[in-house]
Amino acid sequence: MPLAITPYVMSLLALAPPDSPLRRTYLPDTREGCVSPGEFRDPLGEEAHEVANGLIQSYPHKVLLLATRDCACFCRFCTRARTTGTTKCYNSRADPFWWLERRVEIRDVLVSGGDPLTLGDAEVERILRKLRAIPHLQLIRIGTKAPASLPQRITPALVKILKRYPPLWLSLHFTHPAELTPRAATACARLRDAGLPLMNQTVLLRGINDDLDTLRELNEGLLRMGVKPYYLHQGDLAAGTAHLRSTPAKGRAILRAMAGTVSGYAIPLFMRDPPGGGAKTQLPV
Ligand SMILES: *Cc1c(COP(=O)(O)O)cnc(C)c1O
Repeated sequence: MPLAITPYVMSLLALAPPDSPLRRTYLPDTREGCVSPGEFRDPLGEEAHEVANGLIQSYPHKVLLLATRDCACFCRFCTRARTTGTTKCYNSRADPFWWLERRVEIRDVLVSGGDPLTLGDAEVERILRKLRAIPHLQLIRIGTKAPASLPQRITPALVKILKRYPPLWLSLHFTHPAELTPRAATACARLRDAGLPLMNQTVLLRGINDDLDTLRELNEGLLRMGVKPYYLHQGDLAAGTAHLRSTPAKGRAILRAMAGTVSGYAIPLFMRDPPGGGAKTQLPV
């Protein structure tokens, strides 16, 4: 996977020491070349679950729409490193909106990628308009890292578009408290002012955020920015990510220590995607 980093994120990590959490998140490491046993290029088996162009179905009632393969910054632990930053075609040629219109059992669509907010305003609006025109889609969500990696993307013009398609929920992706900057807070405030509920997903990363103090500061800081910590993910078995993957035992110990000492709102669910895909499962805490 190529390197991609925004000037904004560069400004956060430029003066940090080489092993700082944000540097390890975004800067390549030679260990990425070591593929460990049990790791896969496509750890969630998404190529086998693709039902239309960029549309992944692992559940009977909800789907994942991969709207682009591009992101503002490329996280070195990316589960879709095989396609991130490429123009690789998806397997299916069927139009995803055509497929969704005909599947009345689908009630929930998560627009992700890549990061859909790397698309231009007109393209974001085209996707939302097409999804909203499908009456059985009750829940539309967008998965985006823009508030963390490119907060300048959350412009008044974009927010005006997002506001036109309620109820629209956002899944954000903050990894470390160093990302909770005034600019990120402004981006989240704009989104909340437009009535968009904000959730966050974090991947548990070895030496980056897999300790109690870091996750407490991250999740309490998110609450102060009006963002609900939703999932803490055990790292997927993506090829060349063993040096960044923490362990379920560590996640469990941190969440146990959080219970009873922080606001319940600050405690996410601990989740794992099974290798090869299918429904996520909640790890015991
Ligand atoms: C994670 C995921 C979803 C959304 O799951 P929630 O648990 O409802 O957030 C939908 N489709 C796929 C393929 C997924 O991996």
